[in-house]
Amino acid sequence: MAATGTQIRLADVTKDYGLAHPAVDRVSLTVEPGEFMTLLGPSGSGKTTTLNLIAGFETLTSGTIVFDGTDVGSLPPHKRNLGMLFQNYALFPHMTVAQNVAYPLRERKLGKAEIARKVAEVLELVQLTGRDNHHPAQLSGGQQQRVALARAIVFGPSALLLDEPLGALDRNLRATLQAEIHRIHSEVGTTFVFVTHDQEEAMNLSDRIALFNNGRIEQVGTPEELYQHPSTLFAARFLGDSTVFASVSPADGKVVWEDNVWAVSPGTGDGTALIVRPEDVRIGRPPADANSVTGTVRAVEYMGAYRTALLSLGNAGVLGRARLDASDASLSPGQPVTAWWRVAQQRLTKESA
Ligand code: ADP
Ligand code: MG
Repeated sequence: MAATGTQIRLADVTKDYGLAHPAVDRVSLTVEPGEFMTLLGPSGSGKTTTLNLIAGFETLTSGTIVFDGTDVGSLPPHKRNLGMLFQNYALFPHMTVAQNVAYPLRERKLGKAEIARKVAEVLELVQLTGRDNHHPAQLSGGQQQRVALARAIVFGPSALLLDEPLGALDRNLRATLQAEIHRIHSEVGTTFVFVTHDQEEAMNLSDRIALFNNGRIEQVGTPEELYQHPSTLFAARFLGDSTVFASVSPADGKVVWEDNVWAVSPGTGDGTALIVRPEDVRIGRPPADANSVTGTVRAVEYMGAYRTALLSLGNAGVLGRARLDASDASLSPGQPVTAWWRVAQQRLTKESA
């Protein structure tokens, strides 16, 4: 089962259904061997179409798809040697767990003993040892998805493509299976291309994330890079919460927003939207190396482990958030406050790609 995985290179990949704009629009992306790459983006942004183009279920309008140096554009799906996992498990209901998992091995004409050995090995990997003779209907949703995962990797695919595989599961089960998928990726070592619209899931699982918007890739990077250095406002808003001051004007090494003149430091991005994450915003008297803005408290929110204040900032009443600590215990809605953040913690981003 162990494999190093295939490199998947997309160059100017386009799929045009003749709608207002192409479903996938000149996408270029290289997924490295063994990498866990997530295609993240809102519904309709072109993630599934991209995955289907890689799988060969859809034909390219233009561009190239190359596996380890070989152009696969004209290969049918079954010649691409890929494992697939979808939201609906698509198991054969009349077959047992072992028969379901053995299916791709029988198709590949492996011998009986080898099939039995590989099935046992992969069922152990997905922690379903002993369920060999159960039928899918006798298993929970989470267990069925493990069977589907086992069937998708048992033949040692060049890469595993996963399209929102946890979408049908409830929150707790989703967290458990996320951890399982993470473990299985590191044990199997093959290339994973994982589609989700859930930013938290993407942040938890991925080596890198390709952020999709309207059929195009907005930004590619590690979860940390996307969170800490979003290159566009879309990226800043899609990954995590941020307070956004749009259309700041440059002024001699500083920026101006309404009647505020804010310091900027080198290397904190480029653009005219100033963003700051809620965990970096505090309430009270600003220290010397901070920027600040006045506003009012709209609400105090209990997040479980901590509290945040929802703020209305500046004359425009921009919505903002600040992380509260014990000294902010007396804050209440309507109260005027000063919000501040350290200059080094703000980012300037472009307003669009
Ligand atoms: P996502 O997976 O990110 O939600 P999709 O790749 O499914 O997005 O869809 C991208 C765009 O392409 C959407 O506007 C969708 O309506 C359109 N689309 C997808 N498949 C087809 C199809 N077979 N025919 C026409 N339009 C399609
Ligand atoms: Mg989709």
